[in-house]
Amino acid sequence: MSLGLAKHTHGYVEGVEGVRLLKVLTHEEADGSPLPASSILLWDEKRGAGSCGYVQLSELRDSAVVQPGDVVRLREGGSLVTVLYRRGSAANVLFATERCNSLCLMCSQPPRDEDDDWRVDELLQLVPLVDKTDPALGITGGEPTLLGQGLVRVLDACARELPDTELHILTNGRRFADASLARDLVQAGGERTMWAVPLAGDGPARHDEIMGADGGFNETMMGLAELAALGARVEIRAVLHALSIPRLPELAEFIYRRLPFVAHVALMGLEPMGYAKGNRDRLWIDPVDYLDPLYRATRFLADRGMPVSIYNLPLCVLPTSLRPFARQSISDWKNRFPEECAPCALKDSCAGFFASAGAAWRSRAVAPILAEEMHHELA
Ligand code: SF4
Repeated sequence: MSLGLAKHTHGYVEGVEGVRLLKVLTHEEADGSPLPASSILLWDEKRGAGSCGYVQLSELRDSAVVQPGDVVRLREGGSLVTVLYRRGSAANVLFATERCNSLCLMCSQPPRDEDDDWRVDELLQLVPLVDKTDPALGITGGEPTLLGQGLVRVLDACARELPDTELHILTNGRRFADASLARDLVQAGGERTMWAVPLAGDGPARHDEIMGADGGFNETMMGLAELAALGARVEIRAVLHALSIPRLPELAEFIYRRLPFVAHVALMGLEPMGYAKGNRDRLWIDPVDYLDPLYRATRFLADRGMPVSIYNLPLCVLPTSLRPFARQSISDWKNRFPEECAPCALKDSCAGFFASAGAAWRSRAVAPILAEEMHHELA
């Protein structure tokens, strides 16, 4: 199956009242499925069309977008078909809310201050339709913890319906300063949940400036203390840009000394989306120009036994000493490789680029690594 597909297409939609979430299954799969028939869009692959009672979906503009195993959202009177869950993708997320209590300079998903508590009910419908064999699922926003007890309900549903699926939840950590909510969330998330919290600096001035949140650093540190006390699994994320790079080694030391309980540290190349695009002048720095602080931060953590990874950076920009830390971290549907990557011997293990990254966001050091050079390096 082809991943990296769009999440939306248009088609002929008939018979839907309100909004319906439906699991796309072949007739064969549907026969053995424990899901109620009212949740299943019976899929005819030859026709690229499906039905569920009176509901009909056909004439898809992009027939590859909907595949068996996916979960689609259909709306009354509309032609938009949205894939909320894609079978086989490593990048499935539950989108919790558009709201946020921070305003990060590099936010790739700028928040919208509107009441979208309806998403809790939609997620409660979606979770039982996710493949139970899926190894991992993300939860993101906005700031998911703004759902409060709504997020607890979603996590309870995940525990019930997807007991073997790991959860990876992106949060700025501020609401964990509320000990009662922290306890409820961590209990509901259980041991298989990783709470991924960004730190933009090793002190309040830099962190709060970058995160657009006065008092945010102190709240996040209080939240992290609650998470530690509750025994939660925590990942610290540091986004690499012109404002964070000058103190990146100090941030690594801060994490090691003040947050020794963290399970993983992710040092992340910038995603050129949302506010990051508008703030390019303040944020952009060619990765090849920050290899020294990146090397020092990575080695400082790794040498002290802290699991550390580098996300979103192409392998050719990194020295060979840092390549073992690099991960293919860009979600499949956002991931692109320009033509110049075609002859590269490392393409299959490279993170590549965000689809939103035009030439202005590419390092001047990007260049294919040819097989002969690899042999040369290994010799
Ligand atoms: S040339 Fe392309 S595929 Fe090769 S390491 Fe660089 S970005 Fe990755």
